[in-house]
Amino acid sequence: MKILVVDDRANEKDHPRKVLLEAIKEKESIEYDFIEPVEDQLKGKINRINDYSLIIIDYKFDRIRSSLFKAGDSLYSVFRSRTNSTPIYLVSVITSKTNQIGEFDLFIKDEFLANHSAFGLDIKDHKKLKSCTTSSDFIDLLLSPDDIEEDLGLMLKPIFSKPNNTCDNEGSEVSISEGINILLFRWLMQSLLKKEGPLVSMGGAALMLGITEGHFQTHLDKFEDAKYQGLFHESVEDRWWVSLIEDIALSWDDPESLYSTLSFKEASSILLEAKESNYSTCTLCGERYPDSLGIISGDDTKKLYPVHTACSEFQDSIEKEPFFKNPRLIESS
Ligand SMILES: [Zn+2]
Repeated sequence: MKILVVDDRANEKDHPRKVLLEAIKEKESIEYDFIEPVEDQLKGKINRINDYSLIIIDYKFDRIRSSLFKAGDSLYSVFRSRTNSTPIYLVSVITSKTNQIGEFDLFIKDEFLANHSAFGLDIKDHKKLKSCTTSSDFIDLLLSPDDIEEDLGLMLKPIFSKPNNTCDNEGSEVSISEGINILLFRWLMQSLLKKEGPLVSMGGAALMLGITEGHFQTHLDKFEDAKYQGLFHESVEDRWWVSLIEDIALSWDDPESLYSTLSFKEASSILLEAKESNYSTCTLCGERYPDSLGIISGDDTKKLYPVHTACSEFQDSIEKEPFFKNPRLIESS
């Protein structure tokens, strides 16, 4: 396995990123080519682009040597026009949770490279993704519960029904095509492994159970079997399957039949021995059992907080996607 890294400081001996790449080479046996964004160096690599398992481009070039490429995102389309199946990441020292600074498959920080074993698995998972030709191949790699396979099939239908994109050999600039593996990877990173849907974040899991994240953390072992273990699970924060959280909770000893008399949240929070401060409460009104997650208006961190639907607003700026919930907007006055 070999990766290509484009960085304007590639020739600097003490560049910290080079140290990270050396460690990956040693520990994960992943070779790398480390080049500057200048035409003569790019040319040779672009001709052999399919030799690489992954391309990583520095987001911000500090020293502008090339008049053509001033930032990493301008290089994306150059590479994408030559390969429709090799994933392309942008790397930066800064954090960006959004995909709004350009076109690319994933935005990573240097910390992503520092976790060698997770990085090694990431590359292997891309290889598995390349071998998927049907939605059932792909669903198998998600290790999803059986009862949501049909829903997953529906979610994936638009991706698999796209005309089979093939790389344009003539290198024309008319259309930049993306292979099915790239489309699937983007769907994973932008929908399944990011939004609240069939899989939920820790905040979403706690919300379901009517408790705080802190209290959920004290019961993590109970939900081990509901944890997402499929493709790229090492590259993202922990997530849990909604349907498996429900199965687990409903299997608990419930001598007072709480699940038949109370809501799922109320019964679960009691069975999880929640004390006064352990119940989830609405960020706006302070009452128990909020039913949504939302971001606070004007908060650039985009952190999700529990909130009642009635205490928050719908965000019409985000495109609605079936099976997934967009964060609500919390107007704090
Ligand atoms: Zn409320």
